[in-house]
Amino acid sequence: MSGISRRLPDQERSRLKTILKNLIPEDAGVIVRTASEGASEEELERDVIRLKAQWEDIDKKSKESGTNAPALLYSEPDLTVRVIRDIFNEDFNKLIVQGDQAWDDINNYLGHIAPELTAKIEKWTGTRDLFVENRIEEQLAKAFDRKVYLPSGGSLVIDRTEAMIVIDVNTGKFIGKGGNLEETVTKNNLEAAEEIARQLRLRDMGGIVVIDFIDMILESNRDLVLRRLIECLGRDRTKHQVAEVTSLGLVQMTRKRVGQGLIEAFSTTCESCGGRGIHIHSEPVTKVALEKDMEQRYVPQVHEEETEAVDSVETEEVAETAEVAEVKAPAQKRRRRAVSTGVITPE
Ligand SMILES: [Zn+2]
Repeated sequence: MSGISRRLPDQERSRLKTILKNLIPEDAGVIVRTASEGASEEELERDVIRLKAQWEDIDKKSKESGTNAPALLYSEPDLTVRVIRDIFNEDFNKLIVQGDQAWDDINNYLGHIAPELTAKIEKWTGTRDLFVENRIEEQLAKAFDRKVYLPSGGSLVIDRTEAMIVIDVNTGKFIGKGGNLEETVTKNNLEAAEEIARQLRLRDMGGIVVIDFIDMILESNRDLVLRRLIECLGRDRTKHQVAEVTSLGLVQMTRKRVGQGLIEAFSTTCESCGGRGIHIHSEPVTKVALEKDMEQRYVPQVHEEETEAVDSVETEEVAETAEVAEVKAPAQKRRRRAVSTGVITPE
C-alpha cells in the first residue's frame, strides 16, 4: 500500500508513481511526502534502499530479542535529524553545527540521504556559544516585536486579533521630501512584501492575514507589489492563498501554520489584562498626558538642586545610595562615572 501526498500536482504524482512502481517490492509500501517533488529517480532509489535496510534492521531486532520484555526496536529520529529531514535543502548556503553528537548525527544522516549536501555543513570550532556568536537569541526576541523595520526606514506593525492577523505597512520619516513619492512608496511596499513573507514564515503565523500596504496610484505598481508578495510566499513550505485586493486596497490572504506558531510557543496570556494589552483609566486620557506620565515614571530626571551640592563629599555619599539616575548631573556641567569612588571628574 502506497500513498502520494495530495498536495503535489497531478503530473508530479503520476511521475512519482511510475518511478516508485519499479522500486517498491510487492509486500511493501511507502508514503511519498511533498518533499519528493522534483526528486530524481536515483534520489528516490537511494531513499528506498535506506528505508529497506532500516526495516530489515527492525525486523531482525524483533526476532533476535532473547526475552519477552518490551524492547525498543526503532524510535523517531531526534530533533536534530528531523530538522535536517524536513527543512534543510539546497536552498541553504551553509549549516553550522555545534556539538560532537549533533555533528555525527547530521553528517551520517546526510551521507545516506543527500551526500551532495554534506559540503554545506560546517562544524563549529569556536569557543563561544554558536547562538551567541550569531546573535540568534537577539533575532528570536525581535520576532516577538509588533514592529519590524524595513531596510529603507519604513516599518511593519503586526497585530494578532481573534479572527485574523493584521499587518500595517508604514513609510519611514523622510518620505516625499524630494524624489518621486509614488516611487518611494512602491519601493517601501516592495520591501514590505518581502519582509511580510519572511515574517510569516519566521513567526509561523496562520489563518487569515490582511495587509494594508501604502496606497499606490498606478495600477502597474500595485501589481508589482502583489506579484512580489506572491513570489516571496512561494518559498514558504506551507499552503497559502492570496485572494484579490479588496475595494479599500487591502490584500487578504490565508496561510496554513506549519507548527504551533512562535508567539504561541513562547508566550502566556498576561493575567492582569487577559491579553488585551492596554491600561484602562477611570477618566478619559489624552495621549499627551499619558506620554508625560510615562516620561515621569521611566525617564531619569535631572534635579537642579543636585548640581549645586555635588562638591561636598557628604552629599555625594547620600546620592550614591539613591537611584543612579538621580545623581546624573547635566553633562555639560559636571560628569561623574557610573561606578564612583566619590571623585568628581570635571570636564
Ligand atoms: Zn497585560
